[in-house]
Amino acid sequence: MVKGESALLRFRIITISATLVILVSLILSCTSPGETPGLPPEEDESAKEDPKITFGNGGAPFIEPFEAPLEPIPVLEATLRRNPDGPDVVTNPSCTLVLVNKDRNLPEDFVPANLVQPSVPFPFEGDLPRKRMRQDAAQALESLVATAAEEGITLYGSSGYRSYQTQAQIFEANVRRRGEEEANRFSARPGQSEHQTGLAMDVTSPEVGFTLTQQFGATPAGRWLAENAHHFGFIIRYPEGAEDITGYAYEPWHLRYLGEEHARAIYEADITFEEYMEGR
Ligand SMILES: [Zn+2]
Repeated sequence: MVKGESALLRFRIITISATLVILVSLILSCTSPGETPGLPPEEDESAKEDPKITFGNGGAPFIEPFEAPLEPIPVLEATLRRNPDGPDVVTNPSCTLVLVNKDRNLPEDFVPANLVQPSVPFPFEGDLPRKRMRQDAAQALESLVATAAEEGITLYGSSGYRSYQTQAQIFEANVRRRGEEEANRFSARPGQSEHQTGLAMDVTSPEVGFTLTQQFGATPAGRWLAENAHHFGFIIRYPEGAEDITGYAYEPWHLRYLGEEHARAIYEADITFEEYMEGR
């Protein structure tokens, strides 16, 4: 082998190894559905140390697929840590597709990285955590609100990121006011709120006095949101008539960011996020 070819081969191996390491770390940080069904973490580790890289196809490199596990593990199951002493906890809280609900809690100490305040109007002053979202979601919300404004629809942000501790205070206050059973229909227990992911924002409008009310869904702003949120990567997370699936009453104001591809698929199939994930 001449010197140039050897250097080229070394360069290819380095490039492919780096790509593989990046891929594996992505998989570890966000076991996302469809892409890595039930890949156990142990296999990820060994793959990191011993990447099975071979060359073929006339010199084009290819990477042998990981060995499939014997029993296919549902993706949702693969991203949940069973906890015999308390609520089951998700293992992918930073994933854009993380499913959080009454059966899938966020870790108590989870705080999303890159929380920023989107440039959208809020009906109150101050630099507050509740005005923040994860950066990707914040940018998408800015586009949504700006496009709505161009079409004559005025939307305001109302409540975005919320820490575990803040959610605990809110739930306790709601239990004192309405009783635990009723509170659990519209208010999340700590660890069970999407607001802790930084991917959710409650929005409102002047028509409903900037409140969060089911009447919002029937206003022009509420209708516009239901018809257009998916273009910007959001879904109406708690649709009408789906309480037995989502665990919560209708919330026409609660936007959840999933990215455009998934939000569009859920909108077009007219299903909940739970059904979308179960069907993977
Ligand atoms: Zn909400």
